[in-house]
Amino acid sequence: MDYINQIFEHVKERDAGQLEFHQAVWEVLETLAPVIERNPQFREARILERLCEPDRAIQFRVTWLDDAGQVQVNRGFRVQFNNALGPYKGGLRFHPSVTLSIVKFLGFEQIFKNSLTTRPIGGAKGGSDFDPKGKSDTEVMRFCQSFMTELFRHVGPNVDVPAGDIGVGGREVGYLYGQYKRLTNRWEGVLTGKSYTWGGSLIRPEATGYGQVYFLREMLKARGQSIGGKTCVVSGSGNVSQYCVEKILHYGGKVVTMSDSSGFIHDPDGIDAEKLAWVMDLKNVRRGRIRDYVHAFPRASFHEDKNPWAVPCDIALPCATQNEIDTDDASTLVNNGCIAVSEGANMPSTPGAIQVYAAGRVAYGPAKAANAGGVATSALEMTQNAQFDAWSREQVDAELDRIMTNIYQQCVGAAEEYGNPGDLFVGANIAGFLRVANAMLDQGVV
Ligand code: NDP
Repeated sequence: MDYINQIFEHVKERDAGQLEFHQAVWEVLETLAPVIERNPQFREARILERLCEPDRAIQFRVTWLDDAGQVQVNRGFRVQFNNALGPYKGGLRFHPSVTLSIVKFLGFEQIFKNSLTTRPIGGAKGGSDFDPKGKSDTEVMRFCQSFMTELFRHVGPNVDVPAGDIGVGGREVGYLYGQYKRLTNRWEGVLTGKSYTWGGSLIRPEATGYGQVYFLREMLKARGQSIGGKTCVVSGSGNVSQYCVEKILHYGGKVVTMSDSSGFIHDPDGIDAEKLAWVMDLKNVRRGRIRDYVHAFPRASFHEDKNPWAVPCDIALPCATQNEIDTDDASTLVNNGCIAVSEGANMPSTPGAIQVYAAGRVAYGPAKAANAGGVATSALEMTQNAQFDAWSREQVDAELDRIMTNIYQQCVGAAEEYGNPGDLFVGANIAGFLRVANAMLDQGVV
């Protein structure tokens, strides 16, 4: 453990101020001591030190003209963390809170998540502090074109394949792809999350939320429980949340909350398929705020600037952003009888919250396992592009379900093998780490 502490101290010193990155690194390192003890070859090859240092971090200026003809300046990032297992892969986030620390935390997590999928994909992440909210379609297009005008020289179907994340959905992926095609004169699978009509995969939009619920289903099954009849609290109302809610409804659960960055709505009658369709139209077409829900469905209430974790539930499904459940929120969940947390967002629970879940015997599906369905299906999109083929909905969904079930089993197996039976947080880190670490050993000192 001294060795692991030393590595962490070095990261903190070298990357001072990158708090989210430190948090993500520590969450992995703190669980790896038994693996390093049993496998001294990893220490000799300095695998951990190498994993904490990205292969490269690219930062660039993005200059664009708004609709008033004013020059706007944003910052773009792509952090290519590790490609031992395959081409770099990970989303792009457009949100004012994006910094190098945020992109590095996400890229670091992505290494282990992508490894868990068992598909040939390395880890990366990127984005910008650009805020698509309140921008016109043409402003978003001009921003995306300028962003890709720099990014295109660093990506490619066998090099680095970005996808969506917060603030980057089908519209943004379309504009980014159009500019890549114009600059390179190549039609190729350089981005995933494309529209189905021009190279995207069916089920990719649904994949993260569906996969999160498949993972939840497996956790509950192991405890002799099921989703049917359970009350679920969901945060966010974007891509991941929408399809998480859809799949919970499919399994007969009741969802009573959704949120955005202004607050959450509580619908005691439950958000049914018709209300979900209304939310999807609100968020994806009208690009409105979740508070409007209460005008359409007056039995619901809106809670400004609050998160939904105090609403009593059996299952919590965080799908918005990092650190959205802190120690107090987690204690409230446990005290209200919550039995399971499956993470759709990346790193939504603080380290303190994770300890509370463990003490409360909550079934806990950590993000790098529970939300891996999105990137896994992106890898299926890459396969379809490479084959110039398009698979059916049923085929992709069945493969997604198989991958999520396999990830669950890997987590259980690794936790058991390394002395923490039932701890999926530890299991996900170890199983994800082992595949990458062994590949790095095979590939020598690079
Ligand atoms: P979207 O942009 O589609 O939706 C994000 C949602 O979260 C919105 O409702 C947004 O509200 C809310 N939100 C964002 N930031 C904050 C904040 N700081 N405080 C409160 N609410 C916030 O993004 P996605 O659904 O794609 O992503 C959600 C999470 O899932 C992220 O953590 C992402 O990294 C993770 N993820 C996404 C994957 C994917 O395939 N898309 C794959 C794996 C993980 P508002 O509209 O007001 O900003």
